[in-house]
Amino acid sequence: MQTCDALIVGGGPAGSSCAWKLRQHGMEVTVLDKAPFPRDKVCAGWITPAVVQALQLDTEDYAKGRVLEPISGFRTGLIHGRALENRYPAAVSFGIRRCEFDHYLLQRSGARTQLGQALRSLERRGGLWIVNEAFATPLLIGAGGHFCPVARSLGAKLGAAEPAVTAKEIEFEMNPQQRAACPVQANTPELYFCRDLNGYGWCLRKGNYLNIGLGREGHQGLAQELEAFCDFLRQRGRIPDGVPDAFHGHAYLLRGRSGRKLVDEGVLLVGDAAGLAYPQSGEGIRPAVESGLIAAAVVAEAGGDYGYQRLQVYRDRLAARFGAEAAAAGGKTPGFLRNVCAAALLRSRRATRRVVLDRWFLRAHQAALR
Ligand SMILES: Cc1cc2nc3c(=O)[nH]c(=O)nc-3n(C[C@H](O)[C@H](O)[C@H](O)COP(=O)(O)OP(=O)(O)OC[C@H]3O[C@@H](n4cnc5c(N)ncnc54)[C@H](O)[C@@H]3O)c2cc1C
Repeated sequence: MQTCDALIVGGGPAGSSCAWKLRQHGMEVTVLDKAPFPRDKVCAGWITPAVVQALQLDTEDYAKGRVLEPISGFRTGLIHGRALENRYPAAVSFGIRRCEFDHYLLQRSGARTQLGQALRSLERRGGLWIVNEAFATPLLIGAGGHFCPVARSLGAKLGAAEPAVTAKEIEFEMNPQQRAACPVQANTPELYFCRDLNGYGWCLRKGNYLNIGLGREGHQGLAQELEAFCDFLRQRGRIPDGVPDAFHGHAYLLRGRSGRKLVDEGVLLVGDAAGLAYPQSGEGIRPAVESGLIAAAVVAEAGGDYGYQRLQVYRDRLAARFGAEAAAAGGKTPGFLRNVCAAALLRSRRATRRVVLDRWFLRAHQAALR
């Protein structure tokens, strides 16, 4: 039986951020992930500067041999509506590829890794967690994404019972003809909102890669909306011929919708496992990273006492950072842009910039986690 101070299930941004910080506190950390890395993750691959700052990413080092595409503008509108462009004097976000980003962060974390190994069994014995009959640890962190088995063991009812965002995307390398024919600019991602404002589609160019996708709240209507979106992009000449149609799907929860239990004796959930994505934009990488760092700080302060009462502080800190569970989504206000004034905002360049982009998508009002 191998022992460690903390075992993290899931090596995505939440798990690797938590591991990185716990290692800085001198803890022995093991990350278990069912996938061999590098692995891809269904995602547009857009990160905000707060992620770069919270992780103290050396962007020059990162960009060596990896895609880091500075974003300094957005083209926005309704699907089949008029598009507007907003420009910024400097980079306000970055396009990354998840196969590169997640691998880099996991390697950098300094944790021991057990990759290509799914969590198969979990037992509580004598105050320790026994994982796969191979690892013993006093502290378990569930960072396995939306379908995290640790979340399931805490009672989460994964699947259609939870009000998730469902999304599909494809990321492919364009050939030279496609690159020449694609008018989407790498520094200007395109965001087009569904008519019911219940979700949006995107088109994001990163180096030679193009990422196209659509996400919406609920389990209904995704396939039709995606088809309508792709038709629209083709009609407007925004995507080149020959886009593969092998879209990959995934789901995740917006903060305020989940109701998942986040803490128990010797266990915490972080990132998508905890259901933390921002309700207005669906951005999930920043909350994944921040929750991983907050969890690590709580663990370090606990001084080895991982009892339920001690770890409750984590729940309180998430509430302080992301809003209380029920209030985070704006009380009864639905997620994404679905509110009375959103359609009007999208018709005005100025309002789109100030509210939709700066406030909801870039969260420029909220400083990076220190
Ligand atoms: C289509 C789509 C587009 C998105 N675009 C963006 C975007 O552009 N920007 C943004 O900020 N957010 C975006 N998101 C949300 C973002 O992808 C997630 O919020 C983020 O990946 C959460 O990170 P995480 O570390 O919590 O989980 P994940 O990144 O899902 O990592 C979980 C890890 O756990 C592992 N795992 C799962 N089950 C097991 C198991 N049984 N045993 C062991 N390991 C396991 C997985 O292999 C995986 O490596 C998007 C989501 C979707 C679906």
